[in-house]
Amino acid sequence: MINRTMRRLARLLAIGLAFPAMQPVAAQDTGPDAPPINDRGQWLPSSVPTSDDVLRIPVPADYNAPKGSFVLVGGRLFDGTGAAARPATIVVQGKRITAILKPGEQAWPADAVVYDVTGKTVMPGLIDLHTHLTYVEKFDAGFQDAINSGADSAMRAVSRMGIFLQSGVTSVRDVASAGDVPFVLKRWQASGRIAGPRIFAAGQLITATGGHGDGLGTAPENPLGTVRLASGPDQWREAVRLQFRQGADLIKLASEYSQAEIDAAVDEAHSLGLPVTVDAETRYIDMAIKAGVDSIEHPLPRSDAAIALMAKRKIASVPTLVPYRIIQRNSGGYFGSTSRRFELNETTIVEMMRKMKKAGIKMGVGTDLVTDWIDYMPGAYIDELRAFVEVGFSPREALVAATKTSAEILRMADRLGTIEPGKLADIIVVDGNPDEDLNALERVTTAFVNGRLMLKDGRVHPPAHVEKPMPKR
Ligand SMILES: [Zn+2]
Repeated sequence: MINRTMRRLARLLAIGLAFPAMQPVAAQDTGPDAPPINDRGQWLPSSVPTSDDVLRIPVPADYNAPKGSFVLVGGRLFDGTGAAARPATIVVQGKRITAILKPGEQAWPADAVVYDVTGKTVMPGLIDLHTHLTYVEKFDAGFQDAINSGADSAMRAVSRMGIFLQSGVTSVRDVASAGDVPFVLKRWQASGRIAGPRIFAAGQLITATGGHGDGLGTAPENPLGTVRLASGPDQWREAVRLQFRQGADLIKLASEYSQAEIDAAVDEAHSLGLPVTVDAETRYIDMAIKAGVDSIEHPLPRSDAAIALMAKRKIASVPTLVPYRIIQRNSGGYFGSTSRRFELNETTIVEMMRKMKKAGIKMGVGTDLVTDWIDYMPGAYIDELRAFVEVGFSPREALVAATKTSAEILRMADRLGTIEPGKLADIIVVDGNPDEDLNALERVTTAFVNGRLMLKDGRVHPPAHVEKPMPKR
């Protein structure tokens, strides 16, 4: 109830602030090569402060900013732009990186907290574009009970947020979780009340009867479910709007759908300013491309023509090889699945990723760690980066995919993904040279999210309580 009230308040605040600023600043380009009409930012002049997520809702200028400043001195900076690492000092004020100084320069506020990071690498926080924060740990007899409990779902998610943070992940794109949980946690994280990566949430996965994910605690029978079943174009539109109402940053669709259904969902999402990603295979990928989705998850089978079209229409890929490697190694493949009926092994998935790389498709990093696979972190994330190296990226380029490129796929490239003045301070400190040896990512010692210290000496660092004086008599 409190959450609902807060949400209403937040929305009223946003609406109140939005009206004076809602003047289109540029005529919308609707030509055949125009970007998808889902960037609301182009309707706001750059002078209007907007929130730090893809919805870009107008906010007060100091929105979500921690107090004070800090500097990271003595380390080597891997800034995520693709440039080689170099010695540098990084200055942060509030939530933003304000300066990159040469070694020896001391131009920072007198009261700044100074961290000595000699011998370590400072780099942008890693991004995981494919998480399911609330998914149950195992599909035993009681799994529906675990999904039905909002508290259980939230606790699973909070626990995973801590593990992601310890692994150097400072942003997750959650592409299906239970009910309102990812939205509630997103707000708690953003306000600095809990430690964890920032969350970009899709809400529930939208699929058709018998489609991928049906049975995993499906709504509407269960509003806390992770999957929204929809039949026919109108219901697909409605399912999109239900996620939008909660505050979704993007929409996640899954096969198997009809062309009319995915057309309706993508049109509805884009009208609302939301990008769409899809979990699909074979002919469903063709339909998704035709509908105009923004990214496609997984290394599932598709034709060479589909790969060429993805490249031409700038549809990004989040290949997520890790979950398929785990499934293959732990259970030998998919059994009894309605949606995974094709040959899929460790060779075919690498080949699919290699083809996409060769075609020039933009690729970001996602781990899709369902059930209890979070236990494989950070090795799972490093393994995904190794897949990038296997198909032709250098370790340095793989780290750019994990930071800058993944921020681009989040539509947050103006705020996240690199360490440059003006960017949000999502920064990690690594003991070693991860741009030369990816295994160094096993040793993330420190993480700042939005300028807040959230990982210290490799341990999750919850915000300290600040005492409020008792009221005077
Ligand atoms: Zn997934």
